[in-house]
Amino acid sequence: MKCNTTNVPPAAEIDIPALEEKYRQERELRVNPKGQKQYVKPVDDFSESYEVDPHTPLKERDAIVEDIDAVVLGGGWSGLLAGVHLKKAGVTNFRNIDHAGDFGGVWYWNRYPGIQCDNDGYCYLPLLEEMGYMPPKKFVDGYDIYDYIRSIADRFNLYEKALFHTMVSGLKWDDGIKRWRVTTNRGDEIRARFVVMANGLLNIPKLPAIPGIHEFKGKMFHTARWDYDYTGGSYRNPQLDKLADKRVAIIGTGATAIQAVPSLGKYAKELYVLQRTPSTIDERTNPPTDPEWVKTLKPGWQDERKANFQRAAIDTFQPGDPDLICDIWTELNRNLVAEFDQSGWPTSPEEYLAHRNVMDFRLMERLRQRVDALVEDKETAEALKPWYRFLCKRPCSNNEFYTTFNKPNVTLVDVSATRGVECMTEKGFVANGKEYEIDCMMFASGFEVTSDLDRRWGIETIEGRDGVSIYNHWADGYETLHGMMSRGFPNQFFVGFYQGGFNATTTETFSRQGQHIAYIIKEALSQGATSVEPSQEAQDAWVRHVRETAIDISQFQEECTPSYFNNEGESQVDSNGEKKFRWYLGESYGPGWDAFQKLMQEWRDKGDLEGLVVGKD
Ligand code: NDP
Repeated sequence: MKCNTTNVPPAAEIDIPALEEKYRQERELRVNPKGQKQYVKPVDDFSESYEVDPHTPLKERDAIVEDIDAVVLGGGWSGLLAGVHLKKAGVTNFRNIDHAGDFGGVWYWNRYPGIQCDNDGYCYLPLLEEMGYMPPKKFVDGYDIYDYIRSIADRFNLYEKALFHTMVSGLKWDDGIKRWRVTTNRGDEIRARFVVMANGLLNIPKLPAIPGIHEFKGKMFHTARWDYDYTGGSYRNPQLDKLADKRVAIIGTGATAIQAVPSLGKYAKELYVLQRTPSTIDERTNPPTDPEWVKTLKPGWQDERKANFQRAAIDTFQPGDPDLICDIWTELNRNLVAEFDQSGWPTSPEEYLAHRNVMDFRLMERLRQRVDALVEDKETAEALKPWYRFLCKRPCSNNEFYTTFNKPNVTLVDVSATRGVECMTEKGFVANGKEYEIDCMMFASGFEVTSDLDRRWGIETIEGRDGVSIYNHWADGYETLHGMMSRGFPNQFFVGFYQGGFNATTTETFSRQGQHIAYIIKEALSQGATSVEPSQEAQDAWVRHVRETAIDISQFQEECTPSYFNNEGESQVDSNGEKKFRWYLGESYGPGWDAFQKLMQEWRDKGDLEGLVVGKD
C-alpha cells in the first residue's frame, strides 16, 4: 500500500525566525520555577482511590515465606515480557508480583473512555506472529490490549505463580545467603536469587499541587482510576449517562485527556477542559484490519515493520524505503523522502538536518491549520494551537477532540497565563480570576516519569550490598553495565530506560531487555552461580562509552515546552559543570538501537558473561 505524503505548507510560506521567537515566548510562559515540585503524590483525599483497586476484588491469602529463583517486579508489558523470556530460556521457578489485580500494567489501570493505543498496534503488540493474533485495527482499543496481555500470560503459564494485589515494600540484598529478601504489604518474605525490576514507567499517577485541592467538596479522581460508578457506563461500554446532570472539569490536554474529552463532551451537562499546553492532534485513520492485507504478510513481517517504524520515527529513511506505518509518527521522514526523491538526496548530515528542521516547522504549521479548519470559535481555535517543535510532546491523533469544542456545553479554559489552575475551592476551581462551580474534577495530569527515582518507583527500601540504597547510588546519574545491571546490586536487573538502546516500539525495547536478562539468569543458574554483578572496570567502561557516544539533545530539550519529556524544562548541572536535562528515555545509547542489539548479541554469543563477576560461594 502506497502511503501518501501530507499537505504541509511550502517552506516559502513559513517565517522560521518569527516562529522560533513565538515558540520561545510560549515556552517561557509555561516554565514553572517549581519544576517537579509543582506536582504531589495522590495522597490524603486520594489515598483511597489510588491504593484501592476498583477493578478486581481483593482476595485474602496467606503470607508466603519461601526461597525462589527469581522475582519479577511488575506485571505490565515489561514484567510480562521478562516472564515470557525467562520461560523460553527454561527458567520456571519465578513469580511476577504486581499491586494490580491482574497482568496489564498501564492497560490494567487505565480504563478511561476512549482509551486506545496511540501508535501502530501491529508494531506495539508484541509476539503477534507467535501468538497467531492480529489486532482488530491499527490504533487498538485499551480493552483489546488488556485481553491480549492476559492471553500471553495464559499461554506462557505466568498466572500459576503470579502474586497480584501485592505491593513490594522492601528489597534487601543479603550477602550471607546471596539472595534478595523481598518483603510485601501482604506479609510475604521471599528470598529470591534474582530480582528483575520491571516496575514500569507510567505507573504512579501524579497530581498538580493546586492550592485548596483538599477544600473541594465534589468528586475527584485521576484518569488512571476512572470511576464508572460515578460517571455511568463501563470500560467496554462507556456510555457516561450519569454525567447528564453533572458539571465536569478535566485538568490536562495530554495523550490521556485527548482521548477522554470527546466522551465527556458528549455526556456531561457541562464540560470545562483546563488546558496549559495544547497537544499536537492529527486525524486518526483507523479502519478495521483488512483480512486481504493480512493474507499478504510473510513470516518475519512484524520485525520488518518494527524496523521500518524505527527508521521512520527515530533514525532516518534511506532512498527507496517505503513508509509502512503511515501516520503522524512517521510523517516528517515520509515528507522528506518525497521531496528528496524529487530534488535530490542530501549529501551531508548537515544538509539533511537543515531540511529536517524546515520540515518540522512546516509540519507543525499544518497541524495548527487543522485546528482552524475544525474549531468554529476563533479564540478557542487560537488557544488550541501548539507552538513548539514536533516531538517536544507526544504526538496525538483523534477525530473528535477539536470538534468537541463546537458543542455548546463545552468550554476550553486556558490556564497557561497562571502556569496552571490558580486554586480550588469548596465548589470548584478558579482560573483567570473567575470561580467555576463544578460537581467533579478529573485529573488527566500524568504520571511520575522524570521525577526522582524514589518518587517514581514508590518502593520504600531498595538496598544492595552493605545496605547502600539504590536511590543514593543513582542520585547523580545512572551507573550500569548495558543499562540492565549495576555494581553493588548483585543479581538485580533493570528493565526500562537507563543506559541502553531504545526502540520506537516501547514493547520491543522491553522485550529485548527481557531476553538479555533471561539469558544471564539462565547462564548463572546452569553454572551453579550464586551471584552475578558487573565488575567496576566493566561498568566504568560502559558508562564512559555511553557518555562519550551520546547524542547531545540538550539544545532541543532546552527549547522545548516543559513536560515530563524534559523534566518539566528543569535542567541540572552535573559534577562537570555541564547542564543536563533528565530525559525520560534515560541516557540512551548514541550509536542507536541496531548497534546496541548487535553488541548484546555478540556479548551473548561469546558466552563468557564478559564484565560480570560470577560468584559461586
Ligand atoms: P501528560 O503528562 O502527558 O499530560 C498531563 C497534562 O496535565 C498536561 O496537559 C499538563 O499540562 C496538564 N497539567 C499538569 N498540571 C497542570 C496544572 N496545574 N494545570 C493545568 N494543567 C496541568 O499525561 P497523560 O496521562 O496525558 O499521558 C501520559 C503518557 O501516557 C503519554 O505521554 C503516553 O506516553 C502515555 N499514554 C499513552 C497512550 C497510548 O496510546 N499508548 C494513551 C494515553 C497516554 P502541560 O503540558 O502544560 O504540562
